[in-house]
Amino acid sequence: MSRICQNLQAVRGAIAQAAQAASRQPDSIRLLAVSKTFGPAAVLEAVRAGQTAFGENYLQEALDKMAAVGAALQLERLPAPEWHFIGPIQSNKTRLIAEHFDWVHTVEREKIASRLSAQRPQHLAPLNICLQVNISGESSKSGAAPEQVAALAHAVAAMPRLRLRGLMAIPEPAPDFDSQRRSFGRLRQLFEDLNAQGCALDMLSIGMSADMAAAIAEGATIVRVGSAIFGQRTYES
Ligand SMILES: *Cc1c(COP(=O)(O)O)cnc(C)c1O
Repeated sequence: MSRICQNLQAVRGAIAQAAQAASRQPDSIRLLAVSKTFGPAAVLEAVRAGQTAFGENYLQEALDKMAAVGAALQLERLPAPEWHFIGPIQSNKTRLIAEHFDWVHTVEREKIASRLSAQRPQHLAPLNICLQVNISGESSKSGAAPEQVAALAHAVAAMPRLRLRGLMAIPEPAPDFDSQRRSFGRLRQLFEDLNAQGCALDMLSIGMSADMAAAIAEGATIVRVGSAIFGQRTYES
């Protein structure tokens, strides 16, 4: 068995264990394999081990990889995986993101959302959207401020070619389970408040290799895991 296959099994096992500890069903948690900096061969290995959803941060790298993976899977008559964009978005990148991805986790401004909606091709299903929220305050520059998220959510929910699914956050690294849980808990509270206002969100995209268990304890429905599957990256985001 390949190392990626072994790692995937270990991560799936850890998800199941964290779910059980939180009295949740393991299949209520999706695993997004974050393949940034790794090539098409690594993605193909993961696909052959049953992995169906991949996260990418850098647009050009992602487009090259998607083409190579798509061509290889077509030869093997395997279905293409689902692709999630999880990197920062500049406005001049929205068209290619709208054309090539199934999900975007990092929407933090209405202007970006409205471009994605306008540029989503008609022959594709609406683009699934998570709003990125800054739950770590001044120490992080990414994400909408919590007090701005309700207005952003209502605006995105009204955009015809987008489907608002939930919230995403990348908290600053915390040393222990309880402090990791506390920051995820702030996002979960916001998620529940929005649903009480009628938002119908079903996805909480939280948890990475180092804090997955705490995220699952706070209701994660998508964990975004890179290094625990593919190994250490040799360059960073
Ligand atoms: C790189 C990245 C991940 C995965 O991080 P690991 O620590 O390798 O699991 C998850 N989410 C986002 C937004 C990332 O950029």
